[in-house]
Amino acid sequence: MAHTTPITQDMLTLPRKLPEGGKTNLIGLTRDQLRDALVDVGTAEKQAKMRVGQIWQWLYQKGVRDFDAMTNLAKDYRALLADNFVIELPEVVTRQVSEDGTRKYLVKIAGGHEVEVVYIPEEGRGTLCISSQVGCTLTCSFCHTGTQKLVRNLTAGEIIGQVMLARDDLGEWPEPGRPNPPEARLLSNIVLMGMGEPLYNFENVRDAMKIAMDAEGICLSRRRITLSTSGVVPEIARTAQEIGCLLAVSFHATTDEVRDRLVPINKRWNIEELLGALRDYPKASNSERITFEYVMLKGVNDSDEDAHRLVQLIKGIPAKINLIPFNEWPGAPYERSSNNRIKAFADIVYDAGYASPVRKPRGEDIMAACGQLKSATERARKSRKQIESEAGL
Ligand code: SAH
Ligand code: SF4
Repeated sequence: MAHTTPITQDMLTLPRKLPEGGKTNLIGLTRDQLRDALVDVGTAEKQAKMRVGQIWQWLYQKGVRDFDAMTNLAKDYRALLADNFVIELPEVVTRQVSEDGTRKYLVKIAGGHEVEVVYIPEEGRGTLCISSQVGCTLTCSFCHTGTQKLVRNLTAGEIIGQVMLARDDLGEWPEPGRPNPPEARLLSNIVLMGMGEPLYNFENVRDAMKIAMDAEGICLSRRRITLSTSGVVPEIARTAQEIGCLLAVSFHATTDEVRDRLVPINKRWNIEELLGALRDYPKASNSERITFEYVMLKGVNDSDEDAHRLVQLIKGIPAKINLIPFNEWPGAPYERSSNNRIKAFADIVYDAGYASPVRKPRGEDIMAACGQLKSATERARKSRKQIESEAGL
């Protein structure tokens, strides 16, 4: 299956050096990469590690974009940095605010590509839904992003940059001298549930999330970060080892026959192989529970039998089941299950001992809900016929 072939880093990721002036962007460099870059421009080996910590605090904790503001660095060192580096974020093209307070940003990245970022305010917390790719190489038949043909991996800087631009918009950089405790934040959680399959852009997602979790970086607990995958089985163990965040999986069906149609990556790694990888995840990552995402599609995957099969399948895995009412998009070949059907399904799951929250669609009026994201400028889209044939209709 050509469309599930992993796209490699070199095929999709831009070189880190910026073409103009050859200056390196500091945003998104790992600690080691930044250390090496500082040594390359003449920083003493002995001092480089300390400088990384100082610079990270300016960038990720104070939101500083100007080397001159980095006042604990000597003036000539600041000039050296300015000669060799830049601090660049993706550019916000449009910002929409939904009736329910959800904010959607259309963001431009190098090459003129666009991705969407969604901020969802909740009682006492707020979640930022970030993208890992422009479009997606996978073609889940119910997902709007999957109809977008153009694909490129985001760099680590473009991924962590989404968090930074949302903090800009929320005005959430601490005032000088004031602490910014994580528990009081507007942006307290990150979900990798925007455009793209994060595990097909593993290294960049990992490097960005390490910055998100670092005490001198964005400083969010790994328990406040959830990565959602459609089921890239070989990368699941690696996610536990190298990132250690919470995991969500786009499960969506209880037989291989239906899952093959909804989530075509199932043809490569079927339900049994996926469950095998998931059984080991909580232990390996020391996280509590896996979230099973389940989109409710009328007459497709929403029967009582499906609900019973689902709880049977995941037996023994510490889990919660997140039921997502299908969000419509133009040309979508499915309908949302009725509220009564969703409730009956949720009751069966609940009676089997699983939390089964139904995800409330947020920001629907601005097309910000799950699966509705797709760059507005990306006009090349599949025909309805193509979508339907892939959905097996
Ligand atoms: N590619 C990753 C992460 C992005 S999608 C993944 O598939 O897991 C985030 C969640 O939204 C996934 O569970 C996805 O299956 C779901 N989703 C996609 N399209 C949807 C739609 N139209 N309505 C509701 N949920 C949808
Ligand atoms: Fe890609 Fe996830 Fe959409 Fe599937 S559901 S097409 S993996 S973004």
